[in-house]
Amino acid sequence: MKIDDLPRTPLAHLPTPIDDCPRLAAVFGTDRLLIKRDDLTGLAMGGNKARKLEFLMAEAQAKGADTVITTGGAQSNHARMTAAAARRLGMEPILLLTGDFDGRWQGNLLLDRLLGADVRWIDHREFDDEAARLAKELKAQGRKAYIVPIGGSTPLGCLGYALAVRELAGQLEGKEARIEWIVQASGSGGTQAGMILGARLFAPHLKVVGISVARPARWFARRIARIATEAARLIGESFAFEPEDVRVEDGYIGAAYGVPTPEGDEAVSQAALCEGLFFDPIYTGKALAGLRDMLSSGRLPKDGSVLFWHTGGSPALFAFER
Ligand SMILES: *Cc1c(COP(=O)(O)O)cnc(C)c1O
Repeated sequence: MKIDDLPRTPLAHLPTPIDDCPRLAAVFGTDRLLIKRDDLTGLAMGGNKARKLEFLMAEAQAKGADTVITTGGAQSNHARMTAAAARRLGMEPILLLTGDFDGRWQGNLLLDRLLGADVRWIDHREFDDEAARLAKELKAQGRKAYIVPIGGSTPLGCLGYALAVRELAGQLEGKEARIEWIVQASGSGGTQAGMILGARLFAPHLKVVGISVARPARWFARRIARIATEAARLIGESFAFEPEDVRVEDGYIGAAYGVPTPEGDEAVSQAALCEGLFFDPIYTGKALAGLRDMLSSGRLPKDGSVLFWHTGGSPALFAFER
């Protein structure tokens, strides 16, 4: 099976544009900064999950699902986009959200509510059991549920990002930009897994750096290598990825996942002031702060060979007043 032979349901507006960001580049002390705008994938205010959902929802449709169950934090972009994808395809969304609900339907939660998602609050350790129990309950009513694991970060879902790297490689062809590095926010790892697979298949000169917003680098490296290896198998490739093949930086998480950092908030402001672009405090702001620090400390080159991949998330801005 080749990657283009796998069923895919169109949900994203592709290709997403690449913006040159000279004023932000100057502030970050680098010659050039390109930003790949996956905040503009179009589905329900955009973000990286649209590319994964094209594969996952195709499987849901093939299985005859009428309901989609997924999970995430209160301000989950993944949950919002999955709920929207379900609605677009005539399915019912159920969101098993984790964390403390403060009673405010704001940011992504407001959009979940507008989408009429059935929102239930659980402890994150309960997701697998609760989703299976719900699916069984629905089955007894003659319905069929499709379960999307956290972040859509399955081998199948991550193929969306292998294709995204092919898309990027095509866009860079003929441009004078010499991009060697991709920097992006890693939360559940599927995006980075897809990117390393995509680089291996379509652009071997590209190196991917994940800025963790949630977990230690070693945990990510193992998980991402496993997802990428299984994804390669899905498309008939036998090569394997090892944890050593995966680069994740975990110095920019701050107190915890979902808690903004001063450095991340500063990066969000810089992007808005320099370029009129919106990043979010939970994923892309922290990743941008990581990029800024890695450039200034010399861990990434300042010669304009770095591209930042904007993965979306701006609806979460509205849940964090300043
Ligand atoms: C989910 C998400 C990420 C992380 O993607 P993973 O595949 O979960 O690592 C990054 N940025 C935003 C805005 C997201 O919503």
